[in-house]
Amino acid sequence: MSKCPVMTTSAGVPVADNENSLSAGPRGPLLMEDYQLFERMAHFNRERVPERVVHAKGAGAYGQFEVTGDISRFTRAHLFSAIGNRCDLFLRFSHVAGEQGYADTVRDPRGFAIKFYTEEGNWDLVGNNTPVFFIRDPLKFQDFIHSQKRRPDTGLRDNTMQWDWWSLSPESLHQVTILFSDRGIPASYRNMNGYGSHTFSVWNDQGERYWVKWHLKTMQGIKTLRAEDAARIAGEDPDFHRRDLHAAIARGEFPRWQVQIQIMPEKDAETYGIHPFDLTKVWPHKDYPPQEVGILTLNRNPENFFAEVEQAAFEPGNLPPGLGVSPDKVLQARLLSYADTHRYRIGINYASLPVNQPHCPVHTYHRDGHMRFDGNSGGAVNYEPNSFSGPVQAPEYRAPPLKISGDADRYDHRQGNEDYQQAGDLFRLMNADQKAQLIGNIVGAMREVPKSPEFDS
Ligand code: NDP
Repeated sequence: MSKCPVMTTSAGVPVADNENSLSAGPRGPLLMEDYQLFERMAHFNRERVPERVVHAKGAGAYGQFEVTGDISRFTRAHLFSAIGNRCDLFLRFSHVAGEQGYADTVRDPRGFAIKFYTEEGNWDLVGNNTPVFFIRDPLKFQDFIHSQKRRPDTGLRDNTMQWDWWSLSPESLHQVTILFSDRGIPASYRNMNGYGSHTFSVWNDQGERYWVKWHLKTMQGIKTLRAEDAARIAGEDPDFHRRDLHAAIARGEFPRWQVQIQIMPEKDAETYGIHPFDLTKVWPHKDYPPQEVGILTLNRNPENFFAEVEQAAFEPGNLPPGLGVSPDKVLQARLLSYADTHRYRIGINYASLPVNQPHCPVHTYHRDGHMRFDGNSGGAVNYEPNSFSGPVQAPEYRAPPLKISGDADRYDHRQGNEDYQQAGDLFRLMNADQKAQLIGNIVGAMREVPKSPEFDS
């Protein structure tokens, strides 16, 4: 048997007794001087960081991405400069509405958040398992999430709240159709697609910009759970999806996804019949055919769930040169809110945590802040400009300018936007069994919903 190390306090002082607290006599009260007891209690009381308001329950794994399709004429991102380029990555799957202990097989969109550790910095593609979302204006996000979470009076989730909000927000119909289809409950994280969902951009050395959508197609095949099986599994093993992912990787069955991209020249956005920056819409494949750009493989489980999965912090604004955002309003709001929530949840130095740390050198002028644990750049100069060889800007990484125009105003996002065509297109491509599942799932979820918009008293 290997020799165990001596247990210590956080200060490294050896612990002589980890079984008995210090008391006045064998039956007596405890003594204030039992430092070890109080240190253990105090640390335990602070073990939880705030859980994510959305995407609270997740599972993650490390892997690799390999470029298999040439898009180097569209982007200057070094990752895509040659077929065969590779980079490490961390991927976190999640639920959206449920809390940490929620059952994995409840109907809900799944998060599909990837951190690519590229040599030009981290690229975070923070998507879902659906190509669209429920809203197109971020001002409605908080209302939408409240309607999917728990009632303020009873603390219960409530189908009436969900359907009340959806029925008054027709832009959600496309996503609701996907959610209540057979794909609304995947058989496992390995058997679902991922989508960047938003329109993003790429740009090349000539300063040309293209609008793009990212797709990740499961190479394990789509597999879904019927509602009745999902309900049974929720009782038998609430961690069904988390367990499946970990077990598959542990036995060497590494899940893979084919990464695809749809590419639209910048000018097309002005004339394309579908609003290209509307998060409730896809670009039909016949208009912009998806092309393969790479293969993503997950092949290593985290060693510590809290350190790696819980502290993983993704932000859509992490974009190496050659990759960019778009005017999609929901994406624009996410650029602020993701970093903001990490600052609240795990602190200002979250980007230095090992799982979030880029695999390339980092040179910033950020200093100090809570829990600075990495040497804080030592004695290096902490202002810019300076005469002491501190890091400097590099204009060659400047993105091409984007022309914008219009009067500053609050524009009705429901006007001029058609909400039913693409939901209908999806329904029409379903087979008879999928249509029956969709209708059955909606009927099941709406059974308790009253006709009147009034809540039950
Ligand atoms: P296509 O026939 O070219 O593509 C249909 C797409 O729908 C495929 O990617 C397929 O995924 C996916 N799909 C099939 N069943 C479901 C389901 N139950 N839930 C979600 N996705 C599903 O048609 P279009 O490109 O013209 O799109 C038609 C409709 O398909 C859209 O309105 C949209 O609802 C849906 N869709 C479109 C996507 C796009 O980017 N164009 C992406 C995903 C969905 P797979 O190949 O993996 O089976």
